[in-house]
Amino acid sequence: MLTYSLKCDAEKAREAIGGDYAVVELGGPVRLVESVVSLYLDDMPICMYKSWRLTYTDLAQLGLSKAEVYVKGGRSVVRLVRDDERLGLRELIEGSPLIVHAMDVNEAGIAYRVFRLGGYTELLAKGVASSISEAFVPKKGVNVLVADIPMMPQYEKHLKDLLAIGREHFVELHTTMLSDVCPVCGGRMVKKGRLVYCPRCKVQLNRDVNAAWTLARNIIRRLGRMEQLAELREVFMLSYPDV
Ligand SMILES: [Zn+2]
Repeated sequence: MLTYSLKCDAEKAREAIGGDYAVVELGGPVRLVESVVSLYLDDMPICMYKSWRLTYTDLAQLGLSKAEVYVKGGRSVVRLVRDDERLGLRELIEGSPLIVHAMDVNEAGIAYRVFRLGGYTELLAKGVASSISEAFVPKKGVNVLVADIPMMPQYEKHLKDLLAIGREHFVELHTTMLSDVCPVCGGRMVKKGRLVYCPRCKVQLNRDVNAAWTLARNIIRRLGRMEQLAELREVFMLSYPDV
C-alpha cells in the first residue's frame, strides 16, 4: 500500500534479499526508522528513502507488517504491505495492461480517473463518487487503486474502504497534499482558487482533477514504468481540455 523506488546498487540489493524478488518481514532487509524506508545488507543500509507519507501517518493505524522488494535496473522497488494484503509486485511492475484508478479524496467527494496503460493507452472513466468502493470498478488487466486520503477522523471510512479492497486488489495510499504538478511538463502550477494553471504549457484545470493525474503519474514512476509515463502524458493531451 506504500510503494517506493530506492536508488540502489543492484548487486548488493539482490544479495540483501536473496534474488530479484522477495517478501520480507519489516525489520529484516527492509526497515522503517521514523519516516525513512531503508534496505539493509546485513547491518549496513545500502539505500534509503525519506517518506513524507510516513511522516504524516500513524503507522499503527495502517498495520504494516511486511515488504515486497523487486530489484530492477539500478533500483529497488519496495512496497510496504499489511498481513492480509494482496501481493504481486512483479505483476504490478510488468503486467499489462495496467489499469490505474486514481482518486483524490476531500470534502467535495472523490474525484477519480481511470487509465489503461501499456501499448494501448486511454482514459477509461472519470467522475466524482461518494465512496471509494462506488468509484472502484475493476477492469480487465492488472488493477491498482491509488487514493489520496487525508489522515483525519472524518476520512476513516474511506481508509477502511481502501484497506478492504486491498485484500483482493492492489492498493496504494497517499496521505499528503499533492503539490500542483503540471501533467504535461512536470513543472509547478499556479493556484487560482479551485483551479491550477501552468504558465509554460497554458494548461488550466481543476485541482482535484489534477491531483488524480498526479497520483497516476506517481505510482507509474515508482513502479519504474517509464514508457507508460510518456503514454500518460499523451493521453492527457488528447483528453485536454475535456479533463
Ligand atoms: Zn506545464
